Amino acid sequence: MMDMRTKFASLTHVEDSVTASTTHPSDLTGCPWHDVKSMLRSVGLRPTRQRMSLGWILFAKGDRHITAEMLYEEATKAKVPVSLATIYNTLHQFTEVGLLRQVAVEGSKAYFDTNASEHHHFFVEDANQLVDIPGAEVIVDKMPTAPEGYEISRIDVVVRLRKK
Ligand SMILES: [Zn+2]
Repeated sequence: MMDMRTKFASLTHVEDSVTASTTHPSDLTGCPWHDVKSMLRSVGLRPTRQRMSLGWILFAKGDRHITAEMLYEEATKAKVPVSLATIYNTLHQFTEVGLLRQVAVEGSKAYFDTNASEHHHFFVEDANQLVDIPGAEVIVDKMPTAPEGYEISRIDVVVRLRKK
């Protein structure tokens, strides 16, 4: 799957090449709003106002891990009128098209990762915080055998941490 950041960067690049002849290069550095629109279109989602707003809140801050409740709080602070149900729907839609990656830590608590590329996580239990494990550090060297009729879709490793 294509890395989110690569996607964002390439979209920005396309925008740049289109407008480069008429606009000074310094004016082109990152219009997240424009990027979100192109990003939604590229995965076949209609860029509705709500998706645009939530996409902008989600992706404009780089790689991070966010729950529906956290996004709801940020949306409310940003004066985006949206219900928690819509937040859930949007997060799941974004996950289905590969813009986000869902990481299940606790039964009821799902984290959504704006970095949709393959990677594993530390979970800091006291702080309820999800942290990326640097790329090469987890090696799953023995894959389990999938039951009859199934194949392994992916392996997520969550290494739980507590203070010594
Ligand atoms: Zn992550």
